[in-house]
Amino acid sequence: MTPRITWQKLKSAVIQLHPDEDITLLAKAYDFARRAHAGQKRKTGEEYIYHSLATANNLVELKMDMQTIATGLLHDVPEDTDKTLDDIRREFGDDICTLVSGITKLGTLKYRGIERYAENLRKMFVAMASDLRIIIIKLADRLDNIKTLDIHRPDKAKRIAQETLEIYAPIANRLGMFELKSQLEDYSFPFVYPEEYKWVSSLVKDHLKNERKYIDKAQKIAYHQLMKNNVPVIEIQGRVKHIYSLYKKLLSRGKDMTRIYDLIALRIIVPTVADCYQTLGVIHRRWTPLKGRVKDYIAQPKPNGYQSLHTSVFTEFGKVVEFQIRDEMMHEIAEYGIAAHTKYKEATNKFYSKKSLHWIDDLLGWQKDIKDNMQYLKDIKNDIFQDRIFVFTPEGDVIDLPEAATPIDFAYHIHSEIGGHMSGALVNQQMSSLDRPLKSGDVVEIIKDKNRKQPNADWLKMAKTGKARDKIRNQLRKNGSEKFWN
Ligand code: MN
Repeated sequence: MTPRITWQKLKSAVIQLHPDEDITLLAKAYDFARRAHAGQKRKTGEEYIYHSLATANNLVELKMDMQTIATGLLHDVPEDTDKTLDDIRREFGDDICTLVSGITKLGTLKYRGIERYAENLRKMFVAMASDLRIIIIKLADRLDNIKTLDIHRPDKAKRIAQETLEIYAPIANRLGMFELKSQLEDYSFPFVYPEEYKWVSSLVKDHLKNERKYIDKAQKIAYHQLMKNNVPVIEIQGRVKHIYSLYKKLLSRGKDMTRIYDLIALRIIVPTVADCYQTLGVIHRRWTPLKGRVKDYIAQPKPNGYQSLHTSVFTEFGKVVEFQIRDEMMHEIAEYGIAAHTKYKEATNKFYSKKSLHWIDDLLGWQKDIKDNMQYLKDIKNDIFQDRIFVFTPEGDVIDLPEAATPIDFAYHIHSEIGGHMSGALVNQQMSSLDRPLKSGDVVEIIKDKNRKQPNADWLKMAKTGKARDKIRNQLRKNGSEKFWN
């Protein structure tokens, strides 16, 4: 196990992160937590306070504000000690008390498989909507817990790891916190899929040594070419793919390692957006790009805010190399996601504004509909945890939908009225069937028929979002056609 974080270490890390701020609050929080947890030990045998310190330190690594870091120290106090939320309010004020209370509420839920899934999610998202920092602290807490999984009975360790894979990591991903998401996944992986973990680990070991050699060569050539073309390079780094994301990619590539082009990718960080495109040009003049592998996430960011240019090129070493090109701001946002918000407020506002987080509102809107109903559970899981796509209205408004959503989902997303009267759809100005899976960048126009009285019951099968299905069911029910879909 890596050495634990001490108070001294935490303090100097915080001073480095927030050099101009007073650390009185932090010192007070440490003192309070240390006294409250005094005498308590974790299953690892260590003093409880080391878990509080580690959680706070994870928040430092996420570059969070002083209040949030202090809350990391206090996060388990009301649940596990004699001190109450009122004590915390008296000592630290309303803001910190609200954060601690949010985490305490989340802490009381237990994962009991799919039947509790919806309840878990609902609590997570209610907390999220009230203050995203609650979720970030919860993720920092979970990261420390997942690192000490082997102290639990195997079945318990597996349950915690599975919950982390199914709930926590996807939420971190949704918030664009890539580094944290990857760590949560990589620590959980061996506990949930031990055999698969062994298999992927040995594959990586076999390939890495060989690949490093030509990646180093490609890195030198790329650097040289960029210098020659006067592109200012801040850094070129080789990054090794995280093991769980490699596992998932292998599954989607027929378990064929030769079809994985980004076991190691080269990441080029340059000062400006213009430099990014210039870099791409230089790389493509030197090496031939693979068809269909050039991705411009700068012009079309991923729904979680990720931006970069990606390309894979044929090199003279007989190997394909993937390049990821980005500026410094994109890099920080790619690593820390929403947590980079404080530093790059303007840029991130675009992605994390109330409007772009409307999927949270959607969830809050129909949480009351959640019954013990597998269909609802599946709908929610699909809506939140699959990759999202961006499609456009003819007016250029961006609509955020789950992957494989159809024109029906699009129509109902805009308005039930439009959905209910739909007769067809134009996708990129071409007539399209209503069950065609939409792709990011598609421009979708719904053709309405005023004479249509109600949706077609078949649309239930074509819709991919719970929201559209819900509305279709309601409209059918209103028109007394329950027999058609029940
Ligand atoms: Mn904790």
